[in-house]
Amino acid sequence: MKIFEILRQAEREGRTRFSFELLPPLKGETIGTIFDTIDALMPFDPACVNITYHRQDVKYIPCAGGLLERRVVRTRPGTVGISAAVAGRFGIEVVPHLICGGFSKYELEDLLIEMDFLGIENVLALRGDALKGENSFTPHPDGYNHASELVAHIARMNRGLYADAEIENCHSTCFSIGVAGYPEKHAQAPNPETDILHLKAKVDAGADYIVTQMFFDNAAYFRFIDACRTAGITVPVIPGLKPFSAKRQLTLLPEIFHVDLPADLVHAVETCTGSEDVRQTGIEWCVAQARELKAAGVPAIHFYTMGNSDNVVRIAKELF
Ligand code: FAD
Repeated sequence: MKIFEILRQAEREGRTRFSFELLPPLKGETIGTIFDTIDALMPFDPACVNITYHRQDVKYIPCAGGLLERRVVRTRPGTVGISAAVAGRFGIEVVPHLICGGFSKYELEDLLIEMDFLGIENVLALRGDALKGENSFTPHPDGYNHASELVAHIARMNRGLYADAEIENCHSTCFSIGVAGYPEKHAQAPNPETDILHLKAKVDAGADYIVTQMFFDNAAYFRFIDACRTAGITVPVIPGLKPFSAKRQLTLLPEIFHVDLPADLVHAVETCTGSEDVRQTGIEWCVAQARELKAAGVPAIHFYTMGNSDNVVRIAKELF
C-alpha cells in the first residue's frame, strides 16, 4: 500500500500511525540487527519502515612515504536490498530513501527500476548532503542539484517517461513520493519563507507527503504546518521525532541537524545523574511531544532511531 493511502486512511479513521527509520548495517555486518529491531516493533503495528541511504565517505589511508591515499567508500550500502528483504520477511510497507548526491540521473533511474521490480511502491526523495570535506553540495555532472528534480524524475517514470527519451511505451511505475521538510528551516536556506517555496516546488513536482526533520518543541511543527498551508501545500506533513538519548547530543544535534533544544529539555538533561537517566528523560520528552501531536490529529509520527531503537520500542509501548 502506498504511504499516501495509509495516511489518508489514518486521517479518515482519526487514528495516528507511526513509522521509524533504520540505518543499513555497516559494511561487513549482517542484516540480523535490522530484523531484531523490526521484530521488537511489530507488535505495535507500525505503518512502515524507512531505510536511509548513505552517501560515500572520504577516507585517507596512510601509505608508504608518509603519503595519504584518498579513498571514497560507502560504509552503509544495501538500502534497496534491505528494503526488499524487510518487506518480504515482515509484509510491512518499506520506504527506501534515495539521494541525488553522487549519482547521475541514469543511475538514480536504475535504482528506481530495481525498486519497482522488487515491488516497492514508496520512496523518500532527497538531495543528500555534501561529501565530507566539500564546502557545499556538488551534484554529479549528469545528476540533480535539488530533491525537486529527483521528484520530477520519479513523477515522470510514474507517467511512463524515462531518462532515455528514445525508449518508447515504457511501463509506468507507481511510486508514492515523500520528501523532507524543515520546521526550523534547512541550514542552507536563506530564510524560512524561501525554504517553504522550495518545499512547495517538491510537492508541485509530484511529492505526496512530507516528513519533517526532527524537532524538540512542537510549537515549531505547528508554526511550520501553518506556513505550509498558507503557501498552498496541502499534502500530509508527518512530524519527525528523535528521542534524546545522550548528553553529548546537547551539542551534536544542533550542530549536525541545525535544530534548537528547548531550555527545559536542556536543563532536565544537564541535571541527569547518569546515562540511563538521560535516556529516560529523552523518552519522557518524546512521549509528551507525541501525545500532543496525536491529540492534534496528525496521521502519523516518524521516529528517528539513528541506529538505536530500544528507546523507540519503549515509546511505542506507551503510545501505540
Ligand atoms: P532539497 O529539497 O534539495 O533542499 C536543500 C536546500 O536547497 C534547502 O536549503 C532548500 O531550501 C534549497 N533549495 C531547494 N530547491 C532549490 C532551488 N530550486 N533553488 C535554490 N535552492 C533550493 N540524508 C541522507 O544522506 N540520507 C538519508 O537517508 C536522509 N534521510 C532524511 C530523511 C528526512 C526525513 C530528512 C528531513 C532528512 C534526511 N536526510 C538524509 C538529510 C538530507 O539529505 C539533507 O538535509 C540535505 O541537506 C537536504 O536534502 P533535501 O532533500 O531536503 O534537499
